[in-house]
Amino acid sequence: MRAALLTDHTLEALAVAEVPVPAPGAGEVLVRVETVGVNQLDRNVIAGIGPGAVAKLPRVLGIDPAGTIVAVGPGMSEARLGRPVVVKPNIPCGECRSCAAGREADCPAQTVLGVHRNGGAAEFVTVPERNAIDRGEIPAALATAAVHTVPIVLNAFEAIGVGAGDRLLVTGAGGMLGQIALQLGVASGADTVGASRSAAPAPDGARVLRAGSPAELRERLAAEAPFDAVVDVGGHGPTFAAGIAALAWGGRAVTCAASVDPVLELDQRSFYLRRLRLLGVASADFAQVRRALKLVAEGRVVPPVAARFPLERIADAYRAPRTAPGKVIIDVS
Ligand SMILES: [Zn+2]
Repeated sequence: MRAALLTDHTLEALAVAEVPVPAPGAGEVLVRVETVGVNQLDRNVIAGIGPGAVAKLPRVLGIDPAGTIVAVGPGMSEARLGRPVVVKPNIPCGECRSCAAGREADCPAQTVLGVHRNGGAAEFVTVPERNAIDRGEIPAALATAAVHTVPIVLNAFEAIGVGAGDRLLVTGAGGMLGQIALQLGVASGADTVGASRSAAPAPDGARVLRAGSPAELRERLAAEAPFDAVVDVGGHGPTFAAGIAALAWGGRAVTCAASVDPVLELDQRSFYLRRLRLLGVASADFAQVRRALKLVAEGRVVPPVAARFPLERIADAYRAPRTAPGKVIIDVS
């Protein structure tokens, strides 16, 4: 089969190669892949840095494939053969306290498709059966765009309980997660405002404030404050801090991004006196993935697709400048 194989930690060492079709082991299914996404995590694997440093080479990339189950491991039921599925990238250990409680997002021993094991930028991929989640009528490209993005944002929303009656601020609204968070805010019934350093589209029912500098953002937010909740999806410390400063008494803040700044500076006294709360979330539970796909199937959250490339041009997909917010999709078949 054809697979996007990384043989060294440089984009020049990413090429489509002919490799054997993997055989599903016990508890695994074989998925014939239609689409897979371009992710920051892939870039980390290519560079051999951060969470991508653990990947052993050669490695087939691809964390979020969508396709169809075409084979199952030895001794398994064949009931799901032919079922359209999308793969949840994070594979929980299934044995720890978090896993036992259904909080797979918080499993400290989880592994990731395309990082710890060969991924789905290939004609076929094997995954634990539980990770192959039914996508029903959702097209493969949309399911790929959704499966690693919408559940994380949903996890953030659920962690601080964003709902109807809340005034919600989304910081980092200009990126793909920002667009999803704005849609989710509207779908949740919250009065939704986004903040972005760049021009960002606003879905129906939401507004986006554009501010070039943190000082300008603080000024604009002061005129809009107070907010009940702030969800940060951008990872830019000064922007998130400006959002937290605009929170109401007892306000809640959550972040699900760490891609820009390692440090967040807060006014500790104000944080304490105003009884604020701050949480961090990453990954998502299986139940959250299913809830997220339901929102996508209902058209309430539509993750944007920015560009599509055939598998043969996967390296170009990583080189292409990112102009519009949205998922870059690799069409495998
Ligand atoms: Zn676990």
